[in-house]
Amino acid sequence: MKDSFKHQGLRKQLITLLKDKGIENNDVLKAMNKVPRHLFLDSSFEAHAYQNKAFPIGADQTISHPFTVAFQTELLQLKPNDVVLEIGTGCGYQTAVLLEMGAKVFSIERQQELFKKAKLFLPKLGYRPKQLIFGDGYKGLPDYAPYDSIVVTAGAPYVPKPLLAQLKIGGRLVIPIGNDPQIMHLYVRTSEKEFKKETFGEFRFVPMLENKN
Ligand code: SAH
Repeated sequence: MKDSFKHQGLRKQLITLLKDKGIENNDVLKAMNKVPRHLFLDSSFEAHAYQNKAFPIGADQTISHPFTVAFQTELLQLKPNDVVLEIGTGCGYQTAVLLEMGAKVFSIERQQELFKKAKLFLPKLGYRPKQLIFGDGYKGLPDYAPYDSIVVTAGAPYVPKPLLAQLKIGGRLVIPIGNDPQIMHLYVRTSEKEFKKETFGEFRFVPMLENKN
């Protein structure tokens, strides 16, 4: 597992591209400049790891485009030590970005193969989420709620109520909703019972699957 000067150079170019595409939060850009995305991919895709592309990660799933990861992370407006719930660990790349931002991360994955792989792999790179959970993200993770932020990295047909219920007041839920493409949604919990909703254009995600375990 190597992070060569060449990889670091390619990563810098990717960060420039993300800036050009409108990502402004320096903490997000810095975190993504640190995470060695090529190590999260099968070696056959390694040469392309720093292009703004999605790639297969096994179990019919894909790692999200770097721009999508940056965009979702920026919408979370993270502060160090924020408690964050991620739905869809996948290969763990987004998890690593959240950890680089100083968040305390809980992440749920419903594909056992990917869950096991991420659990072994993240610590090898020095990334230590609070918990990686094998389970169904539709239910959230009530045991560790409430969260400062929740980020869903699969396309959901609707907003799961438990996720809204597990936000702190002032907390933010970023979730792509719809069926190919999805519309990026941000819900901010403004009081016990009220949420403010904003939308942010089209994205493409693998589906958030329900009741299929
Ligand atoms: N954040 C990931 C993106 C992976 S793609 C990364 O950086 O690689 C989305 C992931 O969501 C897939 O791994 C898929 O298995 C997972 N997923 C889909 N439905 C889910 C559900 N109901 N609960 C938990 N994970 C789910």
